[in-house]
Parts: sequence; C-alpha cells; structure tokens
Amino acid sequence: MYAQHLASSFEVAAGILKNHRKRLRQGRRPGTPFVKRLMMKAENQAYKLDRTEGIIDLPIRAGCHVELKLVVSRYHRRYLNDGTLSLGSLTVLPDRVIVAFRKEFPGLIAASSVLSLDTNERSLDGIFVEGGRKGDTSCVQVKAAFPEVAIIQQRHHERRRRLQKKKAHDRRLTRVLCGREGRREHHRVDYRLHSVANAVLEFAENHRSAIVLEDLRGMRPNKNKDLNRRLSLWPRRKLHQIIEYKAAWKGIPVIKVDPRYSSRRCPICGRIPDSRMGKWSEFACECGWRMDRHVNASMNLLQTAISKGLEVAGGLRFSPGAFQHDVMMTLCEPAMAVRSEPNGTSHIGVTS
Ligand SMILES: [Zn+2]
Repeated sequence: MYAQHLASSFEVAAGILKNHRKRLRQGRRPGTPFVKRLMMKAENQAYKLDRTEGIIDLPIRAGCHVELKLVVSRYHRRYLNDGTLSLGSLTVLPDRVIVAFRKEFPGLIAASSVLSLDTNERSLDGIFVEGGRKGDTSCVQVKAAFPEVAIIQQRHHERRRRLQKKKAHDRRLTRVLCGREGRREHHRVDYRLHSVANAVLEFAENHRSAIVLEDLRGMRPNKNKDLNRRLSLWPRRKLHQIIEYKAAWKGIPVIKVDPRYSSRRCPICGRIPDSRMGKWSEFACECGWRMDRHVNASMNLLQTAISKGLEVAGGLRFSPGAFQHDVMMTLCEPAMAVRSEPNGTSHIGVTS
C-alpha cells in the first residue's frame, strides 16, 4: 500500500494504545485494545479533494486510485468554498467519510464583557456582566433553555428498558435494537446541543464576551442515585465540548473554573449556609442575599475566575450588587416541542 497510509495506521494504533493506557491508569476495566469499526485514515498529503466538484481522489497503491463522490449540501459548501480553511485528515468509514478542516487560530478577541454560565440539566443559567464607560458595571440574568434534552433522554431510556424486557430471549436482537435507539437519541440530543451552543456563541461574539464555565471534568455520577440521573451528565459535558471548540474557532476566550462550593456559597459575604434556606429554587443566606440558585452559582463561578487572577475581560470588576433583578436575557428558547417518537421510517435530521 501507499506508504503514507501505513504512517496513518500507526497513528491510529498509537491513539488506541494511549487510551488503553489511560484506562489502565484510572483503574478502569482494561479490555484488549480493539478496533471495532472498519476504518481508514489518510493524512492530508495522502489524498486529494476537488473542492468545487466534491470528489476525493484516494491513492491505494501504484496505479490504483479510488474516487469518492461526496454528496455536497449547502452546509458543506460553506467549508469547501472557504479558502482560509486547509484540509486536514480524511477518515473513511463504511457509511461516510469525514474530512477535517484546519483553520489558522484567529487569536483571542479582547473581551469587554463576561458571560458566566452554570450548566444544568435543562438550561444554561447565568449572568452577563458588562462594564460601562464610567467604570460601572451592569449585570443581568441570562438563560439558554434546552428542556427537550432531558425529555428525549428519559424517553429513550424508557424505550431501551422496554426493549430489553420484551426481547429478553434474544440478546443479539436486543443489542441491535438498543444500539439503534442509542444512535437516534444521540442525534436528537446533539442537534439541540448545537443549537444552544450556537445561540450562546452568537451572543458572545456580538457582545465581545469571554465565557466562564464550570469545569465538569472529574465530576463523577453519584452512585446512590438512579440511572436516569447518571444519564444526564454526558450531554452537559458534550455541550461544553461543543461550546469550547466553536469558541476556539471564533477566538472567543473560554475560562473553566472549579465548581466546588459554587452552588452553596454566598457571593456577597462568602458564607456557606449549611442547610438550604427558603424556597427550593432559591439560594438564601443569613446576610439577606436571595437569588435564583442557578444564577447564584454562575456568580460564584465568575468570582472564582476573577479571584484566580484569570484574565476576565480586561480586569472587569464584578459586584453582585450591580445585579438588575428585573432584567432577563434569553439566549435561546426551545424552538419546538419534542416531536413524537420517530417511527421506523422518519429520518433523524430535524429541520426547523
Ligand atoms: Zn451571605
């Protein structure tokens, strides 16, 4: 075979080995490292892409080339036509090919405001802090809701459970059907997470905001709680991943902070009240501070970021006292109710 492909295969193998070692270090169940899916990877020198025609020319060995005609949509065109993007690696899978694009890092924008967001199961809640010309700051509540994600997860979870019960006599069939359910769920959740991330980044871009998020790494699902609860951690991590890479693409700074005590500390006096006072949805402190629990957490995240000396929007100072209680900005609203469950014939891509 073409020698370049061998180099790529080494890289893929090395990547798998690296993951395997990581699992070993973390003491997780180490299976034999194994490539489950048939795949091929080619580096950017090892294939050609005709960007106007959408045809990939993949050399296999001397005198033997494979041509792949891509189905190019308007979405793909945006990237193919953008001359500032160079080609990265090509991944060929049984059902699709993935062409990676590279972009020169645009450099971080000089942020003049901050968007601090607390990530919850059904929404991103937080505050938007902007400095005025006279050195004063304004601070308002922001919200990007995605209630459908939890609903979709719950429904698919129930469907999988039902399938497992109903097809208990045939484990192979159960696996196939559950796998299909999982992929459907994945697509439906992914679509919504991307919409939320796009809304957040559009706002951040328009207001030249830095984004503060909690660092979800190291967060472990609570073993005592039920499976439904455990299901809900991955979309949040996924949402952060999407926000981070889209932010890097636009040069928007993302600051991640340790979320410890963020939901329990009072941003005014620093106390950590040991029991929940007041309403369930509200954070209340002895000093008289009352605030929506999620918004309060986002204030703490921002304070942590500032106290760690992280560069937040050119030394923007933040005082919870500047909070405007009567203003709420909505970054994103669920565009549609959750559709009825897809039957076998409907496709997964949701159009707006
Ligand atoms: Zn207090």
